[in-house]
Amino acid sequence: MLTAHTKPEISVVIPIYNEQAGLAALFARLYPALDKLGTSYEIVFVNDGSRDNSVSILAEQFRARPDVTRVVLFNGNYGQHMAILAGFEAARGEIMVTLDADLQNPPEEIANLVAKMREGYDYVGSIRRKRQDSAWRTYASKAMNRLRERITNIKITDQGNMLRAYGRNIVDLMNQCAEVNTFVPALAYRFARNPTEIVVEHEERAAGESKYSLYSLIRLNFDLVTGFSLIPLQFYSMMGMLMSLVSALLVVVLLVRRLFLGAEAEGVFTLFAISFFFMGIILFGIGLLGEYVGRIFQQVRARPRYVVQTILQQKQGESADSAQPGVEKRTVGRPHE
Ligand code: UDP
Ligand code: MG
Repeated sequence: MLTAHTKPEISVVIPIYNEQAGLAALFARLYPALDKLGTSYEIVFVNDGSRDNSVSILAEQFRARPDVTRVVLFNGNYGQHMAILAGFEAARGEIMVTLDADLQNPPEEIANLVAKMREGYDYVGSIRRKRQDSAWRTYASKAMNRLRERITNIKITDQGNMLRAYGRNIVDLMNQCAEVNTFVPALAYRFARNPTEIVVEHEERAAGESKYSLYSLIRLNFDLVTGFSLIPLQFYSMMGMLMSLVSALLVVVLLVRRLFLGAEAEGVFTLFAISFFFMGIILFGIGLLGEYVGRIFQQVRARPRYVVQTILQQKQGESADSAQPGVEKRTVGRPHE
């Protein structure tokens, strides 16, 4: 019989934030889909500081299937990617699969990801066949995807999609990273030796609503771009050089013009328009610089990235059919090493 501490082949990591409305439906599809695989597995739920009833629903599910269920409880909301990383630290499988709790990623697709992993790939990404999100979100995400691919040189066709599988080698490397603001699929791609992608279905959110506002999506994209590339900064220094060159030329032209044709007073408003335009660019540049500086600050401050309150899991050596599942108490998460 499989005990909680024998290593399973597959670990499924799922971040949970205020998902009480959809969890029952998730369990109803996830467990049968994994049972059908006919291999050992564990499911690691990470509660990212939900303020609704998610925790008690998760605890109940843990009591129902303690042999394959583990629940990591954060003491606050640290974001989806931190939750996934905490799940990776707790997970013991050889193949890690991440998916969203809202059933937008059909659990039945896990079988396809695993099959692909067994072919020898260490990173299996996925592309949503037909995306079930609002039109603006689909469009904006496609545009951002293209821009990001050029800036960061990370080849992920469909970055917004979390249904992915990672090999143990990649997860071990990710566990060594102490990045505060990061984007899990991109980080994993950096470590992948043999990545591939498959096409998967995508469904509408089963219940509840998206946890991402436009603002947090913009933040997330900054994490992705600044976390994996210096090109935005280099672009600014290049542009600065180009602009000083052009304005130096302009000074010469105006000087010559003044000497031969006299002073010019026309075009004041054009001048305003142009200078406001450049002011905008400068402000954006300063802001961008700030994005990097702020991240450096967070990184050197070296606070724990997240705090794990408790992990619900079977105690060491306890078999699935023995008495009561235990609760492992932990109070402090992993600080930066
Ligand atoms: N999530 C999380 N912490 C957060 C926001 C979201 O753990 O701060 C989880 C959420 O419960 C879900 C997944 O991340 O399992 C994706 O969230 P959502 O479906 O809201 O994002 P979308 O599909 O709109 O990109
Ligand atoms: Mg979703």
